[in-house]
Amino acid sequence: MQFHLNGFHGGDPRIAEPARRDGTGDDFDVLIVGSGPAGLTLAAQLSAFPDIRTRVIEQREERLVKGQADGIACRTVEMFEAFGFSEHAMREAYQVNETVFWKPDAANRRHISRTERIQDVEDGLSECPHLILNQARVHDYYLDVMRKSAARLEPDYSRRLLDLEVGGGDVPVTARIERCDPGHAGEVETIRARFVVGCDGARSAVRRSLDLPLRGDSANQAWGVMDVLAVTDFPDIRCKALIQSANEGNLLIIPREGGYLARLYIELDKLSPDERVAARNITPDHLVTAAQRILRPYTLDVKEITWWSVYEIGQRICDRFDNLPEDADETGIPRVFILGDACHTHSPKAGQGMNVSMQDGFNLGWKLAAVLRGQCTPALLRSYSAERRAIAQELIDFDRVLAKMFSAPAKDPDDPDSTGVDPEEFRRYFIQHGRYTAGVETHYTPCLITGPAGHQALATGFVIGKRFHSAPVIRLADAKPMQLGHTVKADGRWRLFAFTPAGDLTSPSSKIRALANWLAEDPDSPVRRFTPADADIDSVIDFRAVFQEPHRDLDIGDLPPLLLPAKGRYGLRDYEKVFCADRVAGNDIFTMRGIDRRNGCMVVVRPDQYVAHILPLNDYAALGEFFGRFMLEAG
Ligand code: FAD
Repeated sequence: MQFHLNGFHGGDPRIAEPARRDGTGDDFDVLIVGSGPAGLTLAAQLSAFPDIRTRVIEQREERLVKGQADGIACRTVEMFEAFGFSEHAMREAYQVNETVFWKPDAANRRHISRTERIQDVEDGLSECPHLILNQARVHDYYLDVMRKSAARLEPDYSRRLLDLEVGGGDVPVTARIERCDPGHAGEVETIRARFVVGCDGARSAVRRSLDLPLRGDSANQAWGVMDVLAVTDFPDIRCKALIQSANEGNLLIIPREGGYLARLYIELDKLSPDERVAARNITPDHLVTAAQRILRPYTLDVKEITWWSVYEIGQRICDRFDNLPEDADETGIPRVFILGDACHTHSPKAGQGMNVSMQDGFNLGWKLAAVLRGQCTPALLRSYSAERRAIAQELIDFDRVLAKMFSAPAKDPDDPDSTGVDPEEFRRYFIQHGRYTAGVETHYTPCLITGPAGHQALATGFVIGKRFHSAPVIRLADAKPMQLGHTVKADGRWRLFAFTPAGDLTSPSSKIRALANWLAEDPDSPVRRFTPADADIDSVIDFRAVFQEPHRDLDIGDLPPLLLPAKGRYGLRDYEKVFCADRVAGNDIFTMRGIDRRNGCMVVVRPDQYVAHILPLNDYAALGEFFGRFMLEAG
């Protein structure tokens, strides 16, 4: 990380100087309702901007301590890197390396036997692993980012949103909030906000206020889930294991962080419409007995149940994820948004609930910040619902099939009348969708902030609309081997990566020098048009270059000024803009990502790490036109 730019900064560099706040009172730029994964991702993103007044309310008395989700997809760990805590998560979490399948034993169908072990994440899919870590710890990481930010943002606990109303004017949303803390219980506060974001889970009060129904399956599926410390002779207790028994039901084992804890998901009966699982009086003993029966001939002696729940869920989705009416004209600006479980619910089997909710928060966070800070047109905010609803619908379609397969009994190959799912078919479906569950298949279609695929051939491995797939590089100034994707931090900035043609170093006639000079000097360049005069030159669009040549062939003194920019109050040089391909076999980013070596290209990356556009290095007009669609001239 970079620090000391504006003077020596002693102590922990992650703790920012607290910002001076102008204005107090009951008006906020953003009110976030709920501090689950969606709300905290959004809050952590907004905490990077102390000039934005954000308030987070949470009905719980304090932070979550245990329970709920635990699967963290590779894509989410990539996002954690942007927030600065991926290494911490990797140290603490369980890393899923293999998934193991079990089915009824052919010789004795009352017993189970292992069918196959597979690699959990395909090689090269991501530089980040698939992790298992309690949701409460993920919350802690975000809370830490918020606490250390210049905004010093903390949730206000024991505050429950009652309802909200959207009126007119610049601060149009009025929210009524009930206090639930001792001494103040029942008191109602009213606050006003420019934008309100409902991250308040499956029973969302924000969604209710917008009168947006969740549509989908009316009958819920109930899952028993428990985190246990147990003694067992089941050999795969430290692997993710999917177990189909002949007649006792199915079980999913998720090993947990710390080496001893394991999570068991046990499928319970389907509930009838309007039936609540509480009415079934399911107890932890019931779950333990079910798990013991499924695991036969292995034994399971549960010593401690650290958390358990009966988690009831249907596959449902809202028609919109914001408050714009269907017939709103193109000038309409959404003022209220819903994220995560508040607008889409699905089974825990695909391990996606927490991941997709966090990605909702990451998608909306930078957009809200860009609009509130006057960098982008409010039309940008319409892309949140359009982009994320399509992704949630895909998840629901996938989850419906997966959950159905998981619930069915294992088909008996020797019995022609046997119903259920062939374990082989189940295994195939699971493997086929590995990229999807890793979170890397999200693909945004062309829109205001995602360009057309006309120049995709210039870099076939950076798919427009998909996340920027990182690859290794060597930083020129200090020869540091690193991941290029890790330069994309959650700081609201756009990245413009220039991949240079072979042999086209930094001479006056080189394409890279011409591009860098145009960006820095031409009044039509997006860097000039959209960066405020008193801000660092990379504060809106961060320009970086990647050369094909070995780093020892380049001289830092030959770089164009924009690749060695003077920044901060002392005009210190930023030496971290230029990279070279790693010559270690198999590590060359140009080969790995299919970059045209003869022509090079520009890759535009959104603040949430998605590839927005690919252009030839000299297509200045298209670059200017792209940013001009949604960015506002700096005052
Ligand atoms: P949530 O994590 O539900 O967060 C919503 C937050 O909003 C909560 O903190 C809530 O207290 C707060 N809130 C709600 N209403 C209000 C209000 N009116 N005012 C203020 N605050 C409010 N997923 C799995 O993969 N495996 C599991 O085993 C699993 N178990 C779960 C058990 C429970 C009890 C729950 C609720 C969820 C579980 N999930 C599980 C789902 C997973 O946790 C969610 O998919 C994920 O947390 C979604 O994140 P979110 O931020 O959208 O919502």
